[in-house]
Amino acid sequence: MTTNKKIKTIKSIKIDIDKCNGCRACEVICSAFHAMPKYSSNNPARSRIRVTREPIRDVYVPVYAGDYVVAECAGRDKYIIDGKEYDECTFCRASCPSRDLFKEPDSGLPLKCDMCEGEDEPLCVKWCMVDALTYEEREEEIIEEEVTPGEVETGLEALVNKHGIDKVADIVAQISKSKG
Ligand code: SF4
Ligand code: SF4
Repeated sequence: MTTNKKIKTIKSIKIDIDKCNGCRACEVICSAFHAMPKYSSNNPARSRIRVTREPIRDVYVPVYAGDYVVAECAGRDKYIIDGKEYDECTFCRASCPSRDLFKEPDSGLPLKCDMCEGEDEPLCVKWCMVDALTYEEREEEIIEEEVTPGEVETGLEALVNKHGIDKVADIVAQISKSKG
């Protein structure tokens, strides 16, 4: 395996929880954008941004989906910010085995934010009327590992052995759909 230095554009969404009012417009537009065909339906359970909404405690926290993790984390913390208590997983972006968040409801496959690939700006940012979400880009130097074709085959074979060809094919199809 060889390594390469590269400049990569890192895209992120800055979240201001003090501005969020829990309207869920971000969930609606995200799920509609990713519906097949596009905009044919909306279902917050399919959204790649989810809002923890607890009006009694005045808690509104939008979080967009990050990577899938195979195992639950070992240590969790409670957060108290400005006198408000937040549950242990409230700020976590992972699609993880310990909760249903960020999983496609029918297949159970993990969902990950793709920054609305193809759009000039993420749609959840555009649809948030109170500017709780701000799109940001920054350049970062990263070290990239070049994977040789042999390594790809070995990795795929291991995945097929572990999860079965159908599951792996489903995931590859889902990834290529989100890239297409
Ligand atoms: S659209 Fe904005 S205000 Fe509404 S839930 Fe999402 S982040 Fe909060
Ligand atoms: S950037 Fe796009 S894909 Fe990501 S959470 Fe927002 S609407 Fe969904």
